Amino acid sequence: MKRIVVALLVASILCGFCSCVENSYYNTPRQTTCAHDWEPATCTEPKTCSKCGETFGDALGHTVVFGTCKRCGNTYTLWGDGEFEDEFDRPIGVKYLIGFSEGEFSNSATNGSELFVAVQVTSTSIGILLWEYGDNIVNTYGSDKYYIKILDGNGEVHRLVGNQYSERIFIDDEENKTEVLDLLKTPQILKFHLSRSGYSLDTYSFDINTSGFNELYDQLYN
Ligand SMILES: [Zn+2]
Ligand SMILES: [Zn+2]
Repeated sequence: MKRIVVALLVASILCGFCSCVENSYYNTPRQTTCAHDWEPATCTEPKTCSKCGETFGDALGHTVVFGTCKRCGNTYTLWGDGEFEDEFDRPIGVKYLIGFSEGEFSNSATNGSELFVAVQVTSTSIGILLWEYGDNIVNTYGSDKYYIKILDGNGEVHRLVGNQYSERIFIDDEENKTEVLDLLKTPQILKFHLSRSGYSLDTYSFDINTSGFNELYDQLYN
């Protein structure tokens, strides 16, 4: 009998029945006379009766992808932080800031296809990661050189070079690094254009919103 009750209880939760059904299984004093009219759960509110205000279950929580909740459209600061880990998933004491964006890429096979981007900044490095078609990370076995143009919020174009080792395109020239860090620390939209040396048709374009970067950078490294 207990098993059936549990099964029914689970079924009632799964099919979204309200707690009046749930209460009928137990002889609790929590009986209600309200014929509930349930509003579905949202990111921030649990399933709620519009008549009596009774709630059921939990709020769904936001599902944030690239700074926007897929469900409610709330936008968030684009910059988060993390810590590198070793092969055994142990933090190694090196923190980074990370910001995501979307854009498009072209090469000899495709034009204007979907691109996902991460910009990863440690206290000593600036790296860019690119995912062609949103999930296929751009990789190199040796090293590749990229010509990078950045259009800043004042309409000025900054030209620099990046070097890719494995998955990361590093802006590793000290002068370039200082220049890009200054750009990131100023709230603005930066328009990036990368072209891969030796593959003139390989281009990557994306915008980076620097809003919130400076505060998080100070928090982590100062
Ligand atoms: Zn109700
Ligand atoms: Zn949401």
